[in-house]
Amino acid sequence: MKTQSIKEMLAAAAPVFSVEFFPPKTEEGARQILRTAKALQASRPDFVSITYGAGGSTRERTLDYGELLQDIFGYEVMPHLTCVGHSRDELRGILERFRKCGFHNIMTLRGDPPKGETEFKPHPDGLAYASELVAFIRETCPDFCLGVGGYPEKHPEATDMETDLAHLRHKVVQGADFITTQLFFNNADYFRFVGRCRELNIAVPIVPGILPALSHSQLKRFCGFCQATIPEELEERLAAVADDEEASQKVGVDWAFEQIRGLLEGGAPGVHLYILNRSGATVALTERLRAEGLLK
Ligand SMILES: Cc1cc2nc3c(=O)[nH]c(=O)nc-3n(C[C@H](O)[C@H](O)[C@H](O)COP(=O)(O)OP(=O)(O)OC[C@H]3O[C@@H](n4cnc5c(N)ncnc54)[C@H](O)[C@@H]3O)c2cc1C
Repeated sequence: MKTQSIKEMLAAAAPVFSVEFFPPKTEEGARQILRTAKALQASRPDFVSITYGAGGSTRERTLDYGELLQDIFGYEVMPHLTCVGHSRDELRGILERFRKCGFHNIMTLRGDPPKGETEFKPHPDGLAYASELVAFIRETCPDFCLGVGGYPEKHPEATDMETDLAHLRHKVVQGADFITTQLFFNNADYFRFVGRCRELNIAVPIVPGILPALSHSQLKRFCGFCQATIPEELEERLAAVADDEEASQKVGVDWAFEQIRGLLEGGAPGVHLYILNRSGATVALTERLRAEGLLK
């Protein structure tokens, strides 16, 4: 039988390959995610994840599109869940729905403050940190396999790396099964982060999250949000082909390929791609990774 728990996938020898979707907001977006889901069947991800919106109707769409990705395309789907704006009762209801949909894994997050707000404020009967959500799920629905986010360059709100790592450790102590990292472009940041985690007895697998850059403007926008450092060389290479979509994608794929090669050769247990609901770069990348024997 196919392995359904990401924890078990990660315990097997071969690198685990996954991609992240986000729920669409428009009709064109809806067509795009379906086209991408179909095209990515060629890339054979071990599982796919789907993000959880900051509020409103996109949250329903995490469930709707999670189910579609599972039922129509046969993917093992990991929905994300955040604490933002939810009471404990609401969270209980969502977990029940995840269970009924047949999901086995959850990416467990605090979430960012909603648009227009600068500080995260928990719901009066809600949860303040991802570690509390992990503990809550462990208590409510203990069978889910749980992932949490990790930040090789530190979470933007954390005062320093050591404090952030102590909080990460707490998520694992509460019951997280694996960590997926925020995107980064320098492998040294990942290996340093993994080294510090191991020193702190954070023993769970740490999966690198990689963004194959599609264009100079997209890279700047995205890294503006998450505060990942863009290497000068990558920025220059993308800026030089800023008007050429195909050439930009090739720069992004080449960079991601070299990054992933280094990560897997250095012992990373797999790779999670931030694909922004696009398939072209991912298909090109996975073909190259398989041709080189880096993915199964
Ligand atoms: C793999 C991945 C997937 C993501 N998917 C989504 C998504 O689907 N939807 C979405 O809205 N966002 C998503 N995000 C973004 C994420 O929600 C933000 O980075 C958010 O700001 C922090 O979430 P967290 O789960 O890391 O929070 P936490 O682990 O709770 O940490 C948040 C901050 O609080 C600090 N902290 C933690 N515990 C304590 C404590 N006990 N006392 C004091 N400080 C503490 C941490 O150091 C950190 O600075 C994702 C991020 C990653 C890495």
